[in-house]
Amino acid sequence: MSVLILLCGHCGVPESAGSASFGTDVEARWSANLCHAAEEALRGTRSVEDLLTVGPDLEGQILVLEAAIRSGVDPLRIRFLDVWRVGKDAGDLIVHIRGALARMRATGGVKDSPRRSARTFRGALPRRSLLLPTVRYWAPLPRVDASRCVADAGCDLCVRACPASAIAGGNPPRIAPELCHGCSVCLAACPVAAVGHPALDFEGVEAEAGVLADGPRRTLLVACTATLVSLDSNELAAAPGPWRLLEVPSLGSLRSEQVLRLLAQGFDRIVAVGRGPCCPEGQAPFEVARALLANLGVPDRILFWNVQVGPVASDWAKALPSGGRPLPAVRSIHELALALAGSGGSAIDLPGRGAGLVTVEPDLCTFCELCAERCPTAALRIEDGDGGAVRITFDHELCDACGLCSPVCPEGALRVRSAVDPAAVGRRDRLAEDTWVCCRSCGRKVAPAAMIAVVAARLSSPAGLDLCPDCKPLRLVPSR
Ligand code: SF4
Ligand code: SF4
Ligand SMILES: [Zn+2]
Ligand SMILES: [Zn+2]
Ligand SMILES: [Zn+2]
Repeated sequence: MSVLILLCGHCGVPESAGSASFGTDVEARWSANLCHAAEEALRGTRSVEDLLTVGPDLEGQILVLEAAIRSGVDPLRIRFLDVWRVGKDAGDLIVHIRGALARMRATGGVKDSPRRSARTFRGALPRRSLLLPTVRYWAPLPRVDASRCVADAGCDLCVRACPASAIAGGNPPRIAPELCHGCSVCLAACPVAAVGHPALDFEGVEAEAGVLADGPRRTLLVACTATLVSLDSNELAAAPGPWRLLEVPSLGSLRSEQVLRLLAQGFDRIVAVGRGPCCPEGQAPFEVARALLANLGVPDRILFWNVQVGPVASDWAKALPSGGRPLPAVRSIHELALALAGSGGSAIDLPGRGAGLVTVEPDLCTFCELCAERCPTAALRIEDGDGGAVRITFDHELCDACGLCSPVCPEGALRVRSAVDPAAVGRRDRLAEDTWVCCRSCGRKVAPAAMIAVVAARLSSPAGLDLCPDCKPLRLVPSR
């Protein structure tokens, strides 16, 4: 990777921000007036792979973007750091530049990635686009990895989650580029990480957050691009610091365990900054993470700020007067619950997806296997045991409460509760057990006893239910 950083003095970026060391593969060029001399600043950029623009506002960014595209830079490899959001302090800017570089390094391979063209730029409709309706901007497009997708088993979670109705069901589902507006909610909805986003995968987000956690008592502001672009320059400045700013396509593009992983990078707290309508369901992953932490005795580490409602919420300043203890670095909600509650902790209810607790009514389950076939993560399984036993088993850590399983149960025997049981981490539980009925003629398995009983109760003459399909005609219809 070779990165060119362009910094604009006219936009208030101090020259010293460009003279920090960013690595041998990075060149920083500070211009007194980048916004109005982008071509000049880009001279000799043939070998540049990635470009980071520090300073200009939205209209200025577009001028730099167009000049960069003319110089041969892939538009998907151009990132923007909004100085009018981050502030003009050289130290703060340098940390945010390093964070952006870390994300670019972690998500480098956007070349040849799917992309869409739109009249909007970073979620806003620029003046240029209004004056010249033919002007289009490029944005990365999420894609479905058909080799991971389990749509053939009945999963349609991304289709249902997409607020733009841009995903058509099918195997695999298809994302319509002209409808997708890039919110990336589908990434978080997919239980098997089959939906990806070449420029916005979580590895890059996490790498950036790791760099932004550059000291104690930091607040991480997580904001969607559209909200950031709509903020007034002084709105973030009023936030109690020190804070760092992390841009995501929408708040709903993160999963609840990812929110916790960001916090575990060493931040005192996370504030989800949103505008409301642009982030449908956006707060859900943050609500889940907040509820879990509160139940584990770590309150007020995740807060919300709806910029449409008003200025910075006063509870930021009040929260954590004496600093918070760092969270353990965990990969999942289950691991965190175990680490903080210990294996003696009782189940904690959650207000959304992230971890699930499935129960089965043993008297109703017929072991038909429909739920296990539907479960995208194999949390539910039908297994054989010793002595002709058949069981339905459940692995807690594999379940994220996606809810696909319960509607397919023909007996209404299965319940999904959004909850995590620290005592059950690492366990595959037996939810119900039965025995196979074997063919009285040849001895092959016919069906679980509970299934035979249900079928028998619905038939007027249940004769022959203990015969397999091959033996049934031979025994029930005597040969002539
Ligand atoms: S959510 Fe994931 S597994 Fe389910 S249909 Fe969409 S891409 Fe496939
Ligand atoms: S057990 Fe049910 S809720 Fe849990 S992951 Fe499987 S299908 Fe989803
Ligand atoms: Zn400028
Ligand atoms: Zn939003
Ligand atoms: Zn038989």
